[in-house]
Amino acid sequence: MRKSIIIGNWKMNKLSKEAIDFVKAVDGNLHDGADFGIAPTYTALAAAREHASNLIVAAQNVHYQPSGAYTGEISIEMLKELNVEWVILGHSERRQYFNETDAEINKKVKACLEHGLTPIVCVGELLEEFEAGKTEEVVRRQVHDCLVGVEGNVQSIVVAYEPVWAIGTGKSATVEIAQNTCALVRDELKKVFNEEVAEAIRIQYGGSVKPSNIKEYMAQPDIDGALIGGASLKVDSFLEIVEAVK
Ligand code: PEP
Repeated sequence: MRKSIIIGNWKMNKLSKEAIDFVKAVDGNLHDGADFGIAPTYTALAAAREHASNLIVAAQNVHYQPSGAYTGEISIEMLKELNVEWVILGHSERRQYFNETDAEINKKVKACLEHGLTPIVCVGELLEEFEAGKTEEVVRRQVHDCLVGVEGNVQSIVVAYEPVWAIGTGKSATVEIAQNTCALVRDELKKVFNEEVAEAIRIQYGGSVKPSNIKEYMAQPDIDGALIGGASLKVDSFLEIVEAVK
């Protein structure tokens, strides 16, 4: 039985003080029905981690090299120094604005598993790919290329299916599209790993999830949670989501 997992991706929002206020308001109001977490910016990670007892605290990116001449980058060891044990990888904004490729994401996933960090690996098609009927081809390719050759505790990996046209647009995917695509993500996981691993890996849907629609997604057999941007930023809305998945 897969435990649901809800993660708020804060993107480039919130200072440390705001992160602390959020964590103080939310951390004691969670329940065991799901894992809940937030992904603050690098500068707010230490503060959030320090105040969180129940919330997962995830970074939004990490480099695959242990150290060296990579100006502006953060290593796995640096995150672990802050007791941060989770990281979002391959978010569409990193792919779109920072040219991140599946090959790089693959190196990051491998490094994370090697060093005990749990990755949330994002995949999802662009609007033009969706409109051209290429969702399956694109998503299968991304799942394969991001995860091929990965070894270790592969069951711990979380995959987030986030159609790029649904992120921050208010145009969430229909429940049917979300379920069908998450089902094909699982099918591709069977090919990359095996049936047992594919059944254990948690798959999130992401794209304009909010308190009013999360229940429908979570009721689907292959959707085990959500990666949430906008609706994760406010305490009230985050707590409504927590309540909705009880
Ligand atoms: C995201 O940032 O991954 C996301 C899904 O954003 P939003 O919920 O705002 O669409």
